[in-house]
Amino acid sequence: MIMWILRLDMSDRTHRVEDVPEPYRLLGGRGLTSTIISDEIPPGCHPLGPNNKLIFAPGIVTGTPAPTSARVSVGAKSPLTGGIKESNAGSGWAPALAAMRIKALVVEGQPEEKGKFWLVRIAWNGETPEVEFLPADEYVGKDLYEVFPQLYERFGKRAQIAGIGVAGEYLYRNSGVVFNDMARRPSRYAGRGGLGAVMGSKALKFVILDRQGAPGVEIANKALFDQGWKKLADALRSHAITKPKGGLNTYGTAILVNIVNEAGGFPTRNFSTGRFEGAAKIAGEAIFEENKERLGRELYNHACSPGCIIRCSNTWHRADGTEHVSCVEYESDWALGANCGIDDLDDIAELVRLCNAYGLDTIEAGTALAVAMEAGVADFGDGQKAIELLHEMGKGTPLGRILGNGTDFTAKAFGVTRSPVVKGQSMPAYEPRAIKGIGITYATSTMGADHTSGYTIAPEILSVGGEQDPLSTEGKASLSRAFQATTAYIADTTGHCLFIAFAILDIASGFEGVVDEVNGVLGTEYSVDDVVELGSKILRKERAFNEAAGFTKADDRLPEFMKYEPLPPHDVVFDVSDEALDAVYGEL
Ligand code: SF4
Repeated sequence: MIMWILRLDMSDRTHRVEDVPEPYRLLGGRGLTSTIISDEIPPGCHPLGPNNKLIFAPGIVTGTPAPTSARVSVGAKSPLTGGIKESNAGSGWAPALAAMRIKALVVEGQPEEKGKFWLVRIAWNGETPEVEFLPADEYVGKDLYEVFPQLYERFGKRAQIAGIGVAGEYLYRNSGVVFNDMARRPSRYAGRGGLGAVMGSKALKFVILDRQGAPGVEIANKALFDQGWKKLADALRSHAITKPKGGLNTYGTAILVNIVNEAGGFPTRNFSTGRFEGAAKIAGEAIFEENKERLGRELYNHACSPGCIIRCSNTWHRADGTEHVSCVEYESDWALGANCGIDDLDDIAELVRLCNAYGLDTIEAGTALAVAMEAGVADFGDGQKAIELLHEMGKGTPLGRILGNGTDFTAKAFGVTRSPVVKGQSMPAYEPRAIKGIGITYATSTMGADHTSGYTIAPEILSVGGEQDPLSTEGKASLSRAFQATTAYIADTTGHCLFIAFAILDIASGFEGVVDEVNGVLGTEYSVDDVVELGSKILRKERAFNEAAGFTKADDRLPEFMKYEPLPPHDVVFDVSDEALDAVYGEL
């Protein structure tokens, strides 16, 4: 199988096309980004300096007919955590890279001249990828909703776009890498960990792909691959959460609002309570009903990227029926809503739109705003003031720069002790005091606080893949370890969206189907039982990088306030022992 590593050197704007080294042949997505980071990036380097690298890798099955698998992993040493980082997004950009047989795109170096930005266009020349560096200054300092149409005008409607907004240009520690969705919106983000700042530090504004004529992904065993994707598709089409007009397709990920709120694990007003009195007003059900009212018809959700069966991505419409934004995800809805005490969906939608426009991660933006609210910069619940503060980030004012550098930075700037971060990255929308397993994932993940790296919410809250009492600490270290290892491979390395987990945890043939797909593409003979070790290998590499960067066990802890401040309504603290936390990686 011919595949390449494509390297862009931004110091002199040259490129190299290299054969894929043998040890990388069976990797993809996070497995590959984390391996290249481990092999090539000095753990002690400055994340925004010349020795960091930004790596893009499509998943193993990305670009094939495997359902819900159009993901690209983005990796680097994180400016937010100081450790290894992988963040992934769904976009047509991912299969386009895979179709050109680029197993990884590695962006290296940085220009000496400051303030000038570049875009790179990669097209297929009949035999190999062809690379062109072009000035991008005309797009700098602008709203991405203004810039994307200009790029499509210039490069054609089939172009696939990755890039940064002003947040990345300002080198904010909260800046994501944006990708286009199916309707050419700048709305799909590899948001976490400040990877947009790494791209900005290399003066790279956009990477535009044109896959026309590209050969597509080679499949070693087509019959096995076909058997695999059909098994997965059947599982996705039959599970209540993932099937057409099922939970996610109807209500989006915000279906979780009422459920997690009911469980008392919905962080509210900067993690001061686990229930939000306005939850029902911002829930997925409210989004569906209000859209129906405003549009005069039921609106089911759409796919963010080619080949998705689940189709969870929503749009929110204004009172006059025009589209306001896509997508009001659960995490965004929570971070910019409940966590800031805001219960108005029009305000939340505008905050999401501004994050998309400026290139910010919605989770980190919302948690930074909430910390600022606690400090008295604005009142909890004041949506209009929150919108003003997001504009400060977009303008790069001194206050905007504080907020744009994330939750921990904001807490330090204002002397707020309730800073809900692990390894410098803010927690997402599940309260670890009320849902212990996810707290263990937050504490021990190589990524900083990250729900996607070990989503124990499935059994703890949704009774998917078994049933676990969220308030109990019993057996949760091993649960988190198993979820972290499995996720690192079955979702993040294969290129599938994490949301296939709802179906494949309950339907064994779906899980087998993913392994069949991988074996079909690679010509391997992995079994379902190999998945945990395949994932563990990735985690061990990431852990070793973090240790070499200076992390110790003390970094695998939740913030202190969660140990002494009881969380209403259950009035519980985070009571998982340090020994249990250390056992997660101790046994990997
Ligand atoms: S399930 Fe949702 S987030 Fe995942 S690929 Fe499909 S539309 Fe995108």
